[in-house]
Amino acid sequence: MSSSTSKIGIGGLLKKLLPFVLPYRWLLVITLVLTFVGSLMAQVNAVVLDRAVDAINGLLHLEGGFKWADAAQILIIISAILLGKEVLAAFITFGQRIFGEKIRINVSRDLSLRVVKRILSFRMAFFSAEGNEPGKLQTRIDRGVMSLSNTVKNFFIDILPLFTSAILALVLMFAANVYVGLVALAIIPVYFIITARQGKRMKGWRRNVFGTHQALNHGIMNIIESIGVIKSFNREEVENDRQAALQEQSTDQQMQTRRISFLFEGLKTFVEQIGTVLIIILTAYLVLTDYPGMTIGKIMYHVLLFNNVSAPIRQLHRIYDDLNDALIYAEGFFDILEADQEVETSGGYRPDSVKGDFALRHVEFTYSNGTHAIRDLTMDIPAGETTALVGLSGAGKSTIVNLLDKFYTPDSGTITLDGVPLQEWDTQVLRDNIGLVLQKNHIFSGTIEENIRYGNPDAPFAAVEQAARQAYIYDQIMALPDGFQSQALQLSGGQQQRIAIARMFLKDPPIIFLDEPTASLDAIATEQIKSAIDAIKQGRTVIVISHNIGQIIDASQLYVLDTGHVVQQGHPTDLYRQGGLYKQIFDASARSMNVDKIAETLD
Ligand code: ADP
Repeated sequence: MSSSTSKIGIGGLLKKLLPFVLPYRWLLVITLVLTFVGSLMAQVNAVVLDRAVDAINGLLHLEGGFKWADAAQILIIISAILLGKEVLAAFITFGQRIFGEKIRINVSRDLSLRVVKRILSFRMAFFSAEGNEPGKLQTRIDRGVMSLSNTVKNFFIDILPLFTSAILALVLMFAANVYVGLVALAIIPVYFIITARQGKRMKGWRRNVFGTHQALNHGIMNIIESIGVIKSFNREEVENDRQAALQEQSTDQQMQTRRISFLFEGLKTFVEQIGTVLIIILTAYLVLTDYPGMTIGKIMYHVLLFNNVSAPIRQLHRIYDDLNDALIYAEGFFDILEADQEVETSGGYRPDSVKGDFALRHVEFTYSNGTHAIRDLTMDIPAGETTALVGLSGAGKSTIVNLLDKFYTPDSGTITLDGVPLQEWDTQVLRDNIGLVLQKNHIFSGTIEENIRYGNPDAPFAAVEQAARQAYIYDQIMALPDGFQSQALQLSGGQQQRIAIARMFLKDPPIIFLDEPTASLDAIATEQIKSAIDAIKQGRTVIVISHNIGQIIDASQLYVLDTGHVVQQGHPTDLYRQGGLYKQIFDASARSMNVDKIAETLD
């Protein structure tokens, strides 16, 4: 799931988490103090019961019988201490949990913010690298943040109090009697061994259950997405059987994991009981042989203390599982944070105005997956004119636009804008001066006004309206019940495209790249957009990529590309006369539109 080969261990994990926890060190100190006090309180029951049993035992053996008043006094004191302790413990537990939770929530927020900030700073190459597809990245981030913040919680809210309490109880047992302490101590390694075995046995199964679960989810999603195809082929039965087989597998796996889990849990309870029995027998023996300091109350005392020792160890298994998850997910997560990626740099050439003269010389470019997309490319894009890039799919047209926008850096060769190499330009200034209109423009969920304003957040509303007019969409917006406050995602594809063009008018950059701006639109929408596109081309440097011949024949110059290389260049009409790839593409395009029949029909 990640490209990293270095596995991080528990120590490594905690070390990586430390910088995220450190800002909350005071919260941590308070939590730890509360934890320690809470652990002390956890031993109170044992101490009180020990004293209570001895005191009552003392009363019973008083010569001449005991007085009820004395008994009542003992009982009142015991009740007061136990209840008082419980009230105090409730406050301490509350404080300890709420502060621990505060640390967890804050750490979770900081992890998310850090990763988002980091991702925003990466250059485009990161996002096209294998394993960084949106879905996978999101899963890695989600899982990472969740399991890492869980580790923080496990450590500070669950493990620490339990183990502090266990150690304290063990110390008290040793203080009371070394042999009793030794018996309690001897049980711990047995527990650890059983837990480690359980972890090992469960690991493979847990992974299987997880895999089947994903397959099931994916299967159901597939059914919903392809329901039309399934129905048209009458394949409901087949799909049903496929799900049934997966469900069967899932049921088996779940039962297996439960069986293993219950077996081991039973074994651990049994070991714990053996410990308890040994402690009762040993203490009873010591009491009966009049060992110094051993009274009947000590039986109760030792059993309760032993319970405090074994309780946290009983939880070991769950914590072990969580930690294993965290180790797996943390790896994918920290791979993103620590990725050896080029980040966008700031600073550099910042001219007062940009003309828009691009010159590319012998440019080579290879994507990270090894696709050699641009080969020895030399071209000039003159300022204030429209240059069209033509070529079959995969010829490298979009890649050129990506290089000019500095989304990627060429392997070799130079690209200059207004005579200055692109890498010397301040990236932000460069992109402020370039407008990008793509086949599918990103319309964000939000109002039309918000979407247009993305081009210039400080623009007054009048400028937003003006941009809408320039993009020939104003009247249609006004016809909507909520006007500019309507949800932009409800608009049709053609309307959304014009919102994107309005955004460009508001941004008003001197350079515009149009990458198949009408590819996904119907004829009427394409025609409507044409006027908007013609308007935005005025007085700007424009690069247009389109399979629509109508959109490229009025360019002032054309570059015809084949496998990342320029094969023809010139004015559209001259190029057609030349023959070659351009003529082939042009003719094929005309034939596919059935131009002859269209002409006949139009007559
Ligand atoms: P065009 O725009 O002419 O259709 P592209 O510039 O999109 O062509 O693609 C040129 C080549 O680069 C193609 O072989 C394509 O598969 C490859 N390519 C495009 N984008 C990526 C990417 N992000 N990662 C790897 N290869 C890519």
